[in-house]
Amino acid sequence: MTVLFEASFERTLDRLCAQLNGGAQSGNLVEAWTFDDARSRRAAERRLVERGVSARLRSAYKPLLHFFLEEVQRRDLAAVTVAYPVHQQAPANRFLLEAYPLAALLDGVEVAFRPRADGAFHYDVTLTFKDGRREEQRVAAPNRVHTDMAGETSVSPTGWLRLGNNEDGERLETDYERLFEAAMTAIIAHPWAGGEPYFEELSIRADYPAEDEPLDFADEVVSLREALHEDFYFSLLEVFQRKSGRPLGDRGLKPGQIAPDIGLSDGAVRVRVELRPLSCDAATAADEPLDAPLLDRAAAPIGDAAIRAGLERIGGEPFEAGTRSGRRVLARYVRGSDAPVMISGGQHANETTGVAGALRAASRLAQRPGAHFTVSPLENPDGYALHQRLRTDNPRHMHHAARYTALGDDLEYRNPVEAGPHLNEKAIRLEAERLSGARLHLNLHGYPSHEWTRPLSGYVPRNFAMWTLPKGFFLVMRHHAGWETAAERLLDRVTAHLATIPELAARNAEQIALYEIHAGETGFRLINGFPCLSSLDERSTVPVTLITEYPDETIYGDAFIQGHTAQMATVLAAYEAWQELIVS
Ligand SMILES: [Zn+2]
Repeated sequence: MTVLFEASFERTLDRLCAQLNGGAQSGNLVEAWTFDDARSRRAAERRLVERGVSARLRSAYKPLLHFFLEEVQRRDLAAVTVAYPVHQQAPANRFLLEAYPLAALLDGVEVAFRPRADGAFHYDVTLTFKDGRREEQRVAAPNRVHTDMAGETSVSPTGWLRLGNNEDGERLETDYERLFEAAMTAIIAHPWAGGEPYFEELSIRADYPAEDEPLDFADEVVSLREALHEDFYFSLLEVFQRKSGRPLGDRGLKPGQIAPDIGLSDGAVRVRVELRPLSCDAATAADEPLDAPLLDRAAAPIGDAAIRAGLERIGGEPFEAGTRSGRRVLARYVRGSDAPVMISGGQHANETTGVAGALRAASRLAQRPGAHFTVSPLENPDGYALHQRLRTDNPRHMHHAARYTALGDDLEYRNPVEAGPHLNEKAIRLEAERLSGARLHLNLHGYPSHEWTRPLSGYVPRNFAMWTLPKGFFLVMRHHAGWETAAERLLDRVTAHLATIPELAARNAEQIALYEIHAGETGFRLINGFPCLSSLDERSTVPVTLITEYPDETIYGDAFIQGHTAQMATVLAAYEAWQELIVS
């Protein structure tokens, strides 16, 4: 192992407590905005009171949401209007997104958001209480315009300090920002030799003293540590995209496996960056073979043994492909007289309901006379193993670092001609198509079931803005020219069937309504109550691909079971519809 960087940082709350004293502040209120959980900020306020300092320590992350959580008696409210800034260098809905999921937390209150004409970093809030009182409040949202790690101009939340005698206040570079900047700068400065892949595993182990704060609504949680993971991961992809001369967001980049692991500390702020050999550990602690009824009720991502057992039950001809770290991608071909279909899951390995859903669907199809399909339930086992590892300490974090392979790329974007020795996981798709001759690929995916942010790089995840908030069980259709009619009919048949699943369409409607309030325009069609996108796309050699996007990062329990049940139902409905469409 090679340590690239290691550092500890003074905690911002400790520094404030040490620097401020009652004499100097003489009765004036001190206001500061930091990246800390509520409990730590309240504790620091108490420490300051003991020193004779009256202080209000607020959250620099999602300040409007925290204003309502910490400073307003929500149960007394009748109506709220929020005028949010629109900054020229940020998306127009940026500060509306940052207010998410306020509208859901103010259930029963009349809530209206409107854009302001200016970009000044505050919200103008009008509170109307049930007893008729009205209050006007200016809620600061400290941000800075800066060049981010990808070299792009970003408007990002930042720490702030306002002493009583200085009305505007000034930027306070917090421990959270310093840790990120220092580790990123060290990685950028490292003399990376040769071409891709640059490393096996690039491990970023950070400890940060902020607890996750569930919002008591759906899967929503405020997690500074999860957000730090996301910003490290995507910023590092961008840094290596630049280094490789690729465009930002290029999914073919193969830097190696990037693994940010952001643990909870009891006060320490530290980070260690090192190069490690790839792990090829087999499985997880709770990895059992699961019989069919247990698989149907799996309440958490399943392990290797359950996948192998599921494939055994399906039968058919086994085929497989290798991964960079030596794991195997396992698949089956069930040969029959039906129109063949390819089923896959786990391309993005932190999207876990598709893995169980693919197995459940395939074992039902296998009972059907004439059944004809391939199934590869977990296309990216290296990413899945990283997901299992990161999930141990932080089960409710979305862990996008587990999305791509150990080469660091999206296997779908691996070009057989250019991949050379690195075809690996992609070979399973080519083989599935060669064996079956399928003209339909059912490709099971997921996306975050709570808000996804990059607070230190412009807040909204670059190139993934449309997936930043949950908006129901989403279907993406990609088809070749000449297949429009079949694609449209398939979408209609599948969504009509999904609409019969109790509560699924109702949950969609709930998520979409909140999405519309906080994101503005939707940009998608609703077919039978299901959000859909359909486009002409010739990249795959299979002419019709139906991609499912279940909001499954990071659900467990009944919500997880509903997720893989919806994935299974989609496969079964699409298979059935395809038989009729192809014959007619
Ligand atoms: Zn995906």
